[in-house]
Amino acid sequence: MSIELEQITKRYGSGAPAVSDVSFKVEDGQLVALLGPSGSGKSTILRMIAGLMHPDSGRIRMHGKDMTRVPTQKRNVGFVFQNYALFKHMTVTSNIAFGLEVRNWSKAETKERVRELLQTMQLADKGDRYPAQLSGGERQRVALARALAPRPEILLLDEPFGAIDTKVRIELREWLRRLHDDFHVTSLFVTHDQEEALEISDRVVVMSKGRVEQVGSPREIFDEQ
Ligand code: ADP
Ligand code: MG
Repeated sequence: MSIELEQITKRYGSGAPAVSDVSFKVEDGQLVALLGPSGSGKSTILRMIAGLMHPDSGRIRMHGKDMTRVPTQKRNVGFVFQNYALFKHMTVTSNIAFGLEVRNWSKAETKERVRELLQTMQLADKGDRYPAQLSGGERQRVALARALAPRPEILLLDEPFGAIDTKVRIELREWLRRLHDDFHVTSLFVTHDQEEALEISDRVVVMSKGRVEQVGSPREIFDEQ
């Protein structure tokens, strides 16, 4: 499902807008990186695409349809956010099943979907563990599995690997790229790490001070630095 932002502006208070006249398109099935320093408006854009917050002006279209004011439950969007941690008191299996139970999937369908994701994420023997009993990399794989479980048409990732050490972060990047190639879910990935953005994505949107500075392929962005 494609995502199109048209002249999106969002202000939190009376100061400069957090996001100012932002337009870009994520084509169906692409993995796009939103790259920019802290405070450049990346998370605000993701929250608006998720429907957790609405823009002051502009439009958000998904698959051509105006979704600007549609509530989050009615958007088929999965998130892996920095501040969207796993449920600590729930096992890996229950964490992944959570979104399916909320959507009233049957017990049998839920069980099968969780089994499939545990397999894909190489977590088959970890289903009964609690988040505290996992490594950082495993936890982020569970977070990805939880986001993908209800078969979202859009996946939003907000610096999902930011808190993880370099070696594991590079592994997770490769995971995400592979998963994306298998599932083809339209994905928007936020990072402040240029190398990460260039390595993982089909296209890069470069943000600065709430505005889009540049949009291009990783090659084009790299050549202009
Ligand atoms: P990024 O994710 O690129 O770091 P954000 O979207 O979080 O950027 O923030 C963009 C700007 O909006 C920053 O100046 C930030 O301080 C401000 N901002 C973000 N969230 C809030 C909020 N809830 N209330 C007030 N200002 C906010
Ligand atoms: Mg942010």
